[in-house]
Amino acid sequence: MKFGFLKHSLVDYPGEVCAVVFIPGCNFHCSYCHNQNLEADVEHNGWTSEQILSYLRDARRLLTGVCISGGEPTLQEDLLSQLIEHFKALNLKIKLDTNGSRSEVLKSVAPEVDYVAMDLKTSPKRYLKLAHPNEASSLLTNLNASVELLLQRPPETYEFRTTLSPFWADENALHDIGRMLKEESRWYLQRCRGEAEPRNAFERLKEEHRLQRAVDIAKGYSKYVDLRR
Ligand code: SF4
Repeated sequence: MKFGFLKHSLVDYPGEVCAVVFIPGCNFHCSYCHNQNLEADVEHNGWTSEQILSYLRDARRLLTGVCISGGEPTLQEDLLSQLIEHFKALNLKIKLDTNGSRSEVLKSVAPEVDYVAMDLKTSPKRYLKLAHPNEASSLLTNLNASVELLLQRPPETYEFRTTLSPFWADENALHDIGRMLKEESRWYLQRCRGEAEPRNAFERLKEEHRLQRAVDIAKGYSKYVDLRR
């Protein structure tokens, strides 16, 4: 199997200099996703696990962590566990990015990872429209279980992330998401790229107002809100 791979990043793991491994394949189809073509990309330009481990062994002194991202990494439990084991053996801190749809897998790997970032994309009642139809029967149960699991962790070891899509993360959705969190949960809001880029000064101003409004709503639920541009 081949993976997407970024040799170093200062923005994918708070406080760490990390490499990023992208595992292809996802059970969601978010309209703003940048990784929709990941499967096709890695087929041609991907890295094997041996190449990644060899690079990490050489770069160990420059890096402090690895971020395992996707796609959705928890769809491939065995592969994910193996990668975690290899990265731990290299003494690198491990961050896992997840959409929270496989709570059992998350539960089994969570004790082995140092930091988890889970997306909360929209109101629970609207989630089914984002996921593959096969997910329908268990999706909401799994999402809630994943949120509960993270809320049991020390707050500095997890975060929730919401991409501020004007459609999926409107004000009602932000209130619904906020009600799922604890006050001490870190909640990062991310600008949505690709869905509706402002085309002129007036639209940019409107967009700034919308982002600020989202931050203000989020601050009503969490003490640790930040906007990632
Ligand atoms: S869950 Fe993440 S990887 Fe999957 S479609 Fe949505 S944004 Fe893309």
